[in-house]
Amino acid sequence: MKKESHSNLINGKWSQKGPSFLSINPSDTTDTIGSFHEATEEECLQAINSAKTAFKSWSQSELEERKKVLDKIGNELIEKSEELGELIAREEGKPIPEGIGEVYRSGQFFQYFAAEVLRQMGETAASVRPNINIEVTREPVGVIGVITPWNFPIAVAAWKIAPAIAFGNTVVLKPSEIVPASAAAFSEIMHESGLPEGVYNCIQGRGDIAGQIVTASKDIDAISFTGSVKTGNIIAQNAIKNMTRIQMEMGSKNALVILDDADIDVAIQCAINGAYFGTGQKCTASSRLIVEKGIHDKFVSKMSEATKALAVGNALHKNTQIGPVVDARQFNQNNSYLEAALSDGAKLIAGDEKINVDTEGFYMRPTLLIETSNNMKINREEVFGPIACVIKAEDYQDALSISNDTEFGLTSGIVTNSLKFANHFKRHSNSGCVMVNLPTAGTDYHVPFGGRKASSYGPREQGQYAKEFFTVVKTTYISS
Ligand code: ADP
Repeated sequence: MKKESHSNLINGKWSQKGPSFLSINPSDTTDTIGSFHEATEEECLQAINSAKTAFKSWSQSELEERKKVLDKIGNELIEKSEELGELIAREEGKPIPEGIGEVYRSGQFFQYFAAEVLRQMGETAASVRPNINIEVTREPVGVIGVITPWNFPIAVAAWKIAPAIAFGNTVVLKPSEIVPASAAAFSEIMHESGLPEGVYNCIQGRGDIAGQIVTASKDIDAISFTGSVKTGNIIAQNAIKNMTRIQMEMGSKNALVILDDADIDVAIQCAINGAYFGTGQKCTASSRLIVEKGIHDKFVSKMSEATKALAVGNALHKNTQIGPVVDARQFNQNNSYLEAALSDGAKLIAGDEKINVDTEGFYMRPTLLIETSNNMKINREEVFGPIACVIKAEDYQDALSISNDTEFGLTSGIVTNSLKFANHFKRHSNSGCVMVNLPTAGTDYHVPFGGRKASSYGPREQGQYAKEFFTVVKTTYISS
């Protein structure tokens, strides 16, 4: 077992001056993954400074140098996807295949943006004045503060950092304190990639210390954040004081609508996958299952059967489909939401079966609640756990209106065989991503990702849309 690990990467060197903290396996709390060091204030400031210094040359670096290094990181992640996927499974608690998939996908983000390096095209325009030509070009923004959550410890960092670096920015990453080993493993790949010193820095530790220093710094030019609404609010207030550009992905309360004409097997597959895979700890999880009344009883009976059949267990075991909840705090929070739902009148029809695991961990059975209404607390607030609530709808219009009745708007889905309803839903669902006959979770890496309302703030992430955040536009007038 590896005990002492690298922690903070500052100006191309490992640094560990602050107090130590442990990373614990949520599938087996007797298993310590490693001991890590929080970055001190001095280390945080050094990281920001080194990114600022490195920006001078990285922003002017040759495109092929950038492309080469991004390709190398991408290839390395893909090559190490089994090893790192297992580490994520051990530290975050998702089953190994999901961990491997995450690291593989992270490599694809880097490969995609390696190619984007050479696709930076400007525009020209004629002037309204004689003998003047206009050029519209994009330039890097500067130092990007990247604040990431624990649920996709490597992928979220990858989809923010790959475009940041591709477009000539430098980075200070503050990963979640719950997944320091995954962050350190990612930093090792970045460190060995040949990136010049200071282009990528990583400072570990608490959000209200290291995260606060990054987001309040005048030397940070843009902040890309994924996490809770509460933290998003703090970060936005910090950012506005310095007029720092921000991009934030926060909470969600995604709905999957199931209409009477749905293929029931597709509906069950979408609901199981969207609600419970990743232990429901995805910002794209379907926590509200809005089911039209004609198919309601059939859906509930099949869904309950399928939910009870899911294999909950140690994330490192081969047959596990649903791993543990990430930690004690999240486990307690899930249970208090469950209690609130039951006292509000929800009925539990799957989730209280015994869990057979031989290790002590934060295990929770996938839980299905019926007879819930959209105004219950459990259907208003993000739970971030394996709990799905069925809400019965009168008809399609009712289902649509319930699905939009939320302060959030990240993803939404509909299961139907009707082109008419699918098209109408696509047009009228107030979310950033709409899925037809697909789970609300699971997106591609080359197209924009993001939500509406309280789910997201600022430009979209991923694909070609990433340049809206990671570059700044310049308009040049040339008189000849
Ligand atoms: P979660 O509850 O899912 O862990 P958080 O929003 O608390 O979500 O955490 C997401 C990321 O934000 C983590 O890296 C965390 O350390 C960081 N963070 C938490 N509080 C702050 C803060 N006050 N300023 C900056 N970053 C923070």
